[in-house]
Amino acid sequence: MTEKSKVYYGSVIAGQPERFANPSEKLDKILEHLDLSTIEKKDKVAIKMHLGFNDGYQTVPVFFVRRIAKAIKEKGAFPFVTDNPTAVYNAAERGYTSETCGCPLIPIAGVKDGYTTKKEVGYKGVEDLDAAGVLLDADVLINLTHTKGHGSCGYGGAFKNIALGGYSGPSRWHKIHGVVAFDSYFDKEKMTKEHILKLREACPRDAPTWSEQRKEPTMAFYACDQCHGAEPKPCEKADDGLTGWKIQKDNFYAFQELMAHASKLILDSFDKEKMFHLNFMMDITPYCDCMGMGMPAVIPDIGITGSRDIVAIEFASLDLIGEAGLIEGVVKQIPHSYMRINPDLTTDLHPFQLLHGPFKDPYKVAEFGEEMGLGSREYELIEVLSPKETGEMDSSGHTYEGGATFF
Ligand code: SF4
Repeated sequence: MTEKSKVYYGSVIAGQPERFANPSEKLDKILEHLDLSTIEKKDKVAIKMHLGFNDGYQTVPVFFVRRIAKAIKEKGAFPFVTDNPTAVYNAAERGYTSETCGCPLIPIAGVKDGYTTKKEVGYKGVEDLDAAGVLLDADVLINLTHTKGHGSCGYGGAFKNIALGGYSGPSRWHKIHGVVAFDSYFDKEKMTKEHILKLREACPRDAPTWSEQRKEPTMAFYACDQCHGAEPKPCEKADDGLTGWKIQKDNFYAFQELMAHASKLILDSFDKEKMFHLNFMMDITPYCDCMGMGMPAVIPDIGITGSRDIVAIEFASLDLIGEAGLIEGVVKQIPHSYMRINPDLTTDLHPFQLLHGPFKDPYKVAEFGEEMGLGSREYELIEVLSPKETGEMDSSGHTYEGGATFF
């Protein structure tokens, strides 16, 4: 029997209100288990994370980033935080600076987003992608991810952090996001501007649209929640068979499959022993960090997972999110927001599908990744400093902030 991939997990729940039960201690323990000894002296270590956008501040807190940078420096290596140039340039607005992170912040594809290496893909009309040069220059990858929902695929996790974050802007936005339009779901010959605008009018999410730039009909897949499975779908009804417009699963899976390909191209450029994945399941918002705005957390805070297997960590994190479920109080407010939710919350779907629709299966990208040999869904979840364990630890040395302590 093959060994299961290890996924270490630290919960946000503490057995006692003590420092030793804090998530930061659990992060340290996870890093210890992941065994950073494969990081060599003078290695350049990329901490790839999302630094947020505009006023979007719900990313991995700098408190933890600094802790990770410290652990890397203790190995004699040189960490640096990296993300797309825009996010790096204004990262200070959201609290990330070289002083606070404890290491430099470097734009992932150079100062003009043009320091890239072409990687051949050959998938659904995408011939190649421009991989971020600074990321590829690194000896070690710390794939540091804030897990959250995502409009195009239900879930943004470890794969998405690398697949989209590891490429220049045009590859990310036009090629990877653009792949959703490849599979045909209507007859382009029969579709006119007037007709697609009629479909748009029928759609409660304004998803079908006309691109003035490309002079062609298009569909905002990130906006389509598939009417949460309701039949008939207003867009299909409005089409009335004229162009054969049909909302199908495959159109939603292409983005996830290309993300798995894009991740593989990045991961293949690193030594297998020099890749570490960390998922932070805190402040789990419905949409991605590049929305540029604050959003209510829709899932309770869960904790941190760490693994050397990107597939295993995604399966484990999604299972934990599934178990935690949606926050009832927030769900009640969704009808007053820009989102919709499945009217039947008892249906057997993952919370991210309840938010983004049944065809946005959050596991799909990891399934594709597994098929490509990037890891295994068979995981062993090893909890570190569990509430029970920390509940039984000696707290006699406790110091409260009763006065100035300066330690
Ligand atoms: S399925 Fe619903 S949300 Fe999606 S395009 Fe059609 S009408 Fe719009």
